[in-house]
Amino acid sequence: MAIKVVKNLVSKSKYGLKCPNPMKAEYITIHNTANDASAANEISYMKNNSSSTSFHFAVDDKQVIQGIPTNRNAWHAGDGTNGTGNRKSIGVEICYSKSGGARYKAAEKLAIKFVAQLLKERGWGVERVRKHQDWNGKYCPHRILSEGRWNQVKAAIEKELKAFGGKANIFSSSSSGSTYTVKKGDTLSEIAKAEGVRVANLQRWNNIKDPNKITVGQKLKVKGSSFSSTKPNNKKNFYELPSSVFAVTSPMRKGSDVKQIQKALAALYFYPDKGAKNNGIDGVYGPKTADAVRRFQLMHGLSADGIYGPKTRAKIEALFK
Ligand SMILES: [Zn+2]
Repeated sequence: MAIKVVKNLVSKSKYGLKCPNPMKAEYITIHNTANDASAANEISYMKNNSSSTSFHFAVDDKQVIQGIPTNRNAWHAGDGTNGTGNRKSIGVEICYSKSGGARYKAAEKLAIKFVAQLLKERGWGVERVRKHQDWNGKYCPHRILSEGRWNQVKAAIEKELKAFGGKANIFSSSSSGSTYTVKKGDTLSEIAKAEGVRVANLQRWNNIKDPNKITVGQKLKVKGSSFSSTKPNNKKNFYELPSSVFAVTSPMRKGSDVKQIQKALAALYFYPDKGAKNNGIDGVYGPKTADAVRRFQLMHGLSADGIYGPKTRAKIEALFK
């Protein structure tokens, strides 16, 4: 049975802010909201606030609500004005991810079905599904990632898609990580899209002069894909995290040690708050830093006291390994 979509679209007067560009979507991007609001509240907040942040659909345990038309872009992928995520992908937010539990599980289940339906409508395979993290490294969908279930979610989408009679996964049959075996009917641009690489790169890696000339059974090198990482993409950064304990004190502690904590949390998108104008790396262990630490702890199963210590340090470090 088809999933009904409730429409509560942004007003045209807000197109310039929320969805300025026409879009021909090529991907679907999955998010976790990182809060406990319902889909109705998510969408009405997005519609009415003055931030440009926007997304196409919010899904909770009961319904799917649409806020932005799918033929317009939304700002949800963090990859810039011309980023593929922002300009070519449909953003789907899964609600209640902050606290998780049964409500979240039901929301995720409905989202999986809904994404399969979107794929089916477009004749796409599950290879068109991306996580927010793939576009800019943000640790999102945070709950799915921290529970190590991204592949499981993709498999569940594929299962639903098959139940809808949709396209089989291009990956499961033909791709083995760094090579892809050409199937009948494949085009280089389709393969490039599925593997998340440029056609020009496929040509270069495989010495293909004419992109229209590929043969069935041909093994193509598809290295260079940036879509397989499950860790923040800036893991190259090395933060010298202090081994001492930091809490909000009076006077507040300040120094390069604290800057390292702030920088690491910023790279993981916990510091500063989403949407803040300056990055706020001031080296002061004040309420803002403590709050970022608290949210980080909450998302990573630590006791959320806002105090930076050995356990928090170890968790942060593990994410950069
Ligand atoms: Zn996201």
